[in-house]
Amino acid sequence: MEDNFDLVVIGGGPGGYVCAIRAAQLGLKTACVESRGALGGTCLNVGCIPSKSLLNLSENYHKAKKDFNNQGIEISDIKLNINKMMSNKEKSVQVLSKGVEFLFKKNKVTYFKGKGVIFSKDDVVVYESNNKKFNIKAKNIVIATGSSPASLPGIEIDEKNIVSSTGALSFSEVPKDLIVIGGGYIGLEMGSVWSRLGSNVTVIEYLDFITPGMDKEISSEFQKILTKQGIKFKLNNKVTSVKNQNGKVIVDYTNNTTAIKESKECDKVLVSVGRKPYTEGLNLSKVGIKKDDKGRIEVNEKLQTSLKNIYAIGDVIKGPMLAHKAEEEGIAVAEIIAGQAGHVNYDVIPGVVYTSPEVATVGKTEEQLKNDNKSYKVGKFPFLANSRAKVNNETDGFVKILADSETDKVLGVHIIGPHCGDMIAEMALAMEFGASAEDIARTCHAHPTHTEAIKEAALAVDKRPIHF
Ligand SMILES: Cc1cc2nc3c(=O)[nH]c(=O)nc-3n(C[C@H](O)[C@H](O)[C@H](O)COP(=O)(O)OP(=O)(O)OC[C@H]3O[C@@H](n4cnc5c(N)ncnc54)[C@H](O)[C@@H]3O)c2cc1C
Repeated sequence: MEDNFDLVVIGGGPGGYVCAIRAAQLGLKTACVESRGALGGTCLNVGCIPSKSLLNLSENYHKAKKDFNNQGIEISDIKLNINKMMSNKEKSVQVLSKGVEFLFKKNKVTYFKGKGVIFSKDDVVVYESNNKKFNIKAKNIVIATGSSPASLPGIEIDEKNIVSSTGALSFSEVPKDLIVIGGGYIGLEMGSVWSRLGSNVTVIEYLDFITPGMDKEISSEFQKILTKQGIKFKLNNKVTSVKNQNGKVIVDYTNNTTAIKESKECDKVLVSVGRKPYTEGLNLSKVGIKKDDKGRIEVNEKLQTSLKNIYAIGDVIKGPMLAHKAEEEGIAVAEIIAGQAGHVNYDVIPGVVYTSPEVATVGKTEEQLKNDNKSYKVGKFPFLANSRAKVNNETDGFVKILADSETDKVLGVHIIGPHCGDMIAEMALAMEFGASAEDIARTCHAHPTHTEAIKEAALAVDKRPIHF
């Protein structure tokens, strides 16, 4: 089989499939090659979607078990059916993946199931799972091959007892003791899931704080809240070995300051120490595409690699490894290839941790502003003083707005609290429009909603909150 395309996208994750759809909308004859047998990439198959499904289901279970009685809803004999919970999650994944396939058909994107290899700058060879291969011609190529879980030297992930996030999304029973190596957002989300379902969870983190890159005041509040929920933390500790032994796993770690060595036995270990760009088998060095020292494909501001008709987007290039960042780049690159002015505003990429409460951030942290010698004002408002949070018994957390001291322009917003993963969209929009804290403070927010905490934090930037 041979065919000619204006654009061949390699990888059908949120970067790749969104790029393919946008390119087809713009009239480009587009194909997408995906090797996992299903569209949606890491995000839909083993990332955002299954993890959010389990976060939601485990939260429902936990609430029913721990909170309902106090709220006057008396149910006895609440049981966990882990198999049913897992099939619920799998059903959501399948439906959404089929949905992307439908969108491909609707937009006339050709979907090739197989591994794409760049043979030359305008030739892609597709290797199907039955070992057959065929060639497709491409005027332009977008590499959107994503990332895979990283590990630590000497630790072998077997996806049974020593697992990556993929294994932790599919345990067939609740582990009694779970150790999570790494206090980033994936480890904390998965740790929360299993803790709510009954595991005794310990997080071992190399740094002396969790969620690196997050505003420190928020991350320290986050750790306090998770500790209150029963998750234990061993910070400032380096894991030195993880070994299977008689059906259990032994984790050895050493304190970075005291050099005291400890050992802990558990049933499962989740290694969540980050992700690495995935470029295996693409033939990059042969065709002359450069990577940086972290294995990411190098691109310029137009997302072009060292070959000018080959572009790269998403987790495989620099920037936050987030599905919506990959999607924005997918749209931008399709528009650039179609001759338009595609653009991504990297200053306004929100980030959300879907624990309970959620954590949501956009823009600069206080540490970054200090580092940049930027003069700023801070406005904060606690959910304890928000009427909706109060009636719902979800008063943990606060909103923090950072604004320029001179111009009042919003530079960053950091929230820990109920539903803030949705609330952050308002702040991203405000920042896209270059809003001042005063603009937000003067915007009417519906009562009683959690969003009033945002308005109050904006008022607090000018030291005039009403309800605190
Ligand atoms: C547990 C977990 C939870 C997460 N939660 C969130 C979240 O809540 N929000 C968020 O924004 N992000 C989340 N992420 C991150 C998010 O999944 C990634 O940032 C996103 O999927 C990156 O998109 P991408 O298109 O760059 O790559 P991917 O989604 O990794 O897709 C790349 C695709 O390319 C395919 N591929 C690779 N090589 C080839 C080849 N040679 N030929 C053909 N196909 C190939 C792969 O099979 C894969 O399907 C999470 C990740 C994990 C692991």
